[in-house]
Order: sequence, then structure tokens, then C-alpha cells
Amino acid sequence: MRAQAVRKEIPTQLPARDAALRDRVDACAAWIRQLRNHEPLPALRFEQGDPLAGLGQELQLLAREIERRDRELGQILNLVQTVEQGVFLEEVLNRIFEGFSGLIPYERIGCAFLSEDGEQLTAYWARSKLGAYKVSSGYSQMLSGSSLELVLRTGQPRIINDLEEYLREKPESDSTRRIVQEGGRSSLTCPLIAGERPIGFLFFTSWKKNTYGEEHQSVFRQIANQVSIVVEKSRIYQKIIDHNRQLIEEAEKLEEVATHDALTGILNRGAVMQALQRIAAESARTHNAFGVIMADIDHFKRVNDDFGHAAGDEALKEFAHRLKHALRQGDHLGRYGGEEFMIIMPNATIDIIKGTAERLRQTIAGSPFDLGKAIKTITASFGVVISSEAKYSPTSALAAADRALYAAKNGGRNCVVVA
Ligand code: GH3
Ligand code: MG
Ligand code: MG
Repeated sequence: MRAQAVRKEIPTQLPARDAALRDRVDACAAWIRQLRNHEPLPALRFEQGDPLAGLGQELQLLAREIERRDRELGQILNLVQTVEQGVFLEEVLNRIFEGFSGLIPYERIGCAFLSEDGEQLTAYWARSKLGAYKVSSGYSQMLSGSSLELVLRTGQPRIINDLEEYLREKPESDSTRRIVQEGGRSSLTCPLIAGERPIGFLFFTSWKKNTYGEEHQSVFRQIANQVSIVVEKSRIYQKIIDHNRQLIEEAEKLEEVATHDALTGILNRGAVMQALQRIAAESARTHNAFGVIMADIDHFKRVNDDFGHAAGDEALKEFAHRLKHALRQGDHLGRYGGEEFMIIMPNATIDIIKGTAERLRQTIAGSPFDLGKAIKTITASFGVVISSEAKYSPTSALAAADRALYAAKNGGRNCVVVA
């Protein structure tokens, strides 16, 4: 409306000089329209001494700035989306390295984290266009005494535009020396803050002196914010994972305690009985026979009487250990009672189960037991049963194995009797 009002005031019959001026103003207006509509912009040209030349130059600078902010906004938005997608930190850092070089100059980006107590700073990730690193992941330094302490305190980005000079003033700074060796001449450093807590630093490094200025700080701070968010997210995620793993481990420990015999480490009575129930049920379904072996140490009371209860315990441990190592993977070994043991074998034949019991007997009787106080030969008696096609009942199998064991005892001990 107002533009039209102004236009009307310009007389229609203009002197040649004014007409030329109007043409240039029109050209500027058309150019601004193109800028507004995101159309390709031709360069604005003015003759020397043209009073509009200064305006044209400012317009072109404005156009460049708008374009830069546009790209910056687009890149930051991209980064925010990346972070929201729950992408891992390394991937986010790689995307920053690949995506921001048009907006902020750098040849190298690095990221370092503080230890829980805030005293140690350790390099976590770095990427450089040259790929030769003097400060790589794992490089560690104490925070106290370093100038980064100040950066943390102010919470503001820090610019060093001549790293060589900085190193001359602070020759003790090992990390600066290494970065200069890599080629760094300017650096931009920003603290990473999660919540209120400082967690580390983000470093941008350029191979040229005097690279960084005020204009880089805002985009840099936004990048650092996004990195902080990812770090915080992955920390929380890691905590949940750790917590979960702890719960699983505790549950496994509880399960182990509930199902295993504390002295020998093999299945306890409840667990081996459960295994028997399960295998008997499976057997009824698949019609594969299963075997049960009952083993009882011979004259075990004498071991306790002669060498003491502790030696008796040693004997029980060694006994279980020998049986365990003489059995197959799928067999189940448990402590049924004091010095009585039970073995359940799925998919067994009478020959397999007899052979196994005989092997176990020899494993025990074949070499003496080291009981600490004494070396003693120990024997055991074995009662063996194979479930018949008709009878898969666990209780009847158990009773039959028990009877066979009783017969083995009566038959002179240190032998195998089949039910
Ligand atoms: P048999 O040949 O007839 O089986 O004789 P035995 O002496 O082995 O049988 P008995 O049932 O008379 O004695 C078993 C002994 O096992 C008695 C008990 O003190 C001992 N015993 C049971 N549990 C443990 C244990 O956990 N540690 C120790 N040291 N001894 C145990
Ligand atoms: Mg006994
Ligand atoms: Mg007994």
C-alpha cells in the first residue's frame, strides 16, 4: 500500500537522470523480491559513483547472511533430528564432522569426557581431515591446573587463534603441544553440560591461524548442546542396561543358590527331582527311555569317624567332582541326600546306563581320594534302572533304583546292580 503511495508521488514525466535512478531502484526491488522468493540471485551491479552502490553492497551482504543462517538452521535442525532418533554418540559426532564444515571452519573435531569425580579428562573421540592423531581416544590428562578449568567455570566457549603462541606461553600444556603437532593453529573449545553438571568438552580445531570469531560461537554452542543431550541420553541408557544386567545376575545367583548344593556345587535334591519329573514327562511324550542311577558312598561314616567331618566334606566334594566329569553333557547329576547321589540320563538304553554306572564306579574306586589329612580309597555302590516302555513314572523309577542300590550294598558294595 505504502509503496504504491510513494510511487504516485513520482511525477510521470521525469528528467533522464531521474528515470535512470528509477530503473535502478526497480532493479533493486526486483532483486529483493527474488531473494524473498528463494529464486537464484544475479549479482547487483552499479556504476562507479552511483549513490545506490552502497545500498546494493549492503543488500548483497544481507542476502549472504540470510543464506548462511538458513544453512545453519537447516544443519542444526538435522542434528536435532539425528539426536532425537536416538542415534549413538559416535554417529552423531561423525554427522557433525561431515555436515558443518560449510558453516564453521575446522580440520579436526574432538570430544573428551570428565571422570565421575570431575578430575580427569579423557579423549573419547577425534576425527581429522588428515587422519594423523597425537591426541587419540584414551589420551588422558588431569583437569586441575589446565586452562580448561577456567572454560568450565565460565561455561562459555573459548577461542585461541594462535595455538603456537599459546604453547610458547604455556609450554607445559602437553595436549596443546600434541594438537600443534597434528597441525592445529586455532581452536574453539566448548564445555559439554548435562543438566547443570559439566561432563566434558567439544573441540574444533583449524589448521589456520585466526580462524575463529564471535560469529562461530552461537552455532558451536548449539552443536555442543546437542552433543551433551546425546551423552546424557546414552549415559541414562547405559545405566538402565547396567541395572538390568545386575538384576539378571542377581536373579541368576538366587537361582543358583536355590537349585544347587552348597557343598558340592551340583544340583540339590529339589532340582534333581525336578529334572527327573521333566525327563520322565518328555520320555512319555517321545517314547525314549530314560535311566536313573542311585549312588551311595560305602562306609562313609567311617571316613567321618576316622578323619573328621572336614575330611568327610572333602571326600563328598571330590566324589561329586569325579562323577560330574565322567558324565555326558545332557545327564543330570544331583546330591540326593548326605552321601547319596542321583544321576538322570535322558535317551538311554540299558547298555548305556549300565556302562555309565560301571564307568562311574571305576572313576571313584580307581584312585584314592586326597582328604587333606589322609589319602584314602573310597568306593560306592550303584543301583541302576531303565524306564520301561510301559512305565515312565518317576516315582516308580526312583523306587526301583533304590532297591537296586540296596541290593548292591547287600551284594558286597563297590558294584553296580541293575533293577
Ligand atoms: P553304607 O556303606 O551302608 O552306605 O554305610 P555309610 O556309613 O556310608 O552309611 P550311613 O548312612 O551309616 O552313614 C552316612 C554318613 O554320612 C553319616 C553322616 O554323618 C555322613 N554325612 C552325611 N552328610 C554329610 C556331610 O555333608 N558331610 C559329612 N562329612 N558327612 C556327612
Ligand atoms: Mg553310604
Ligand atoms: Mg546313605
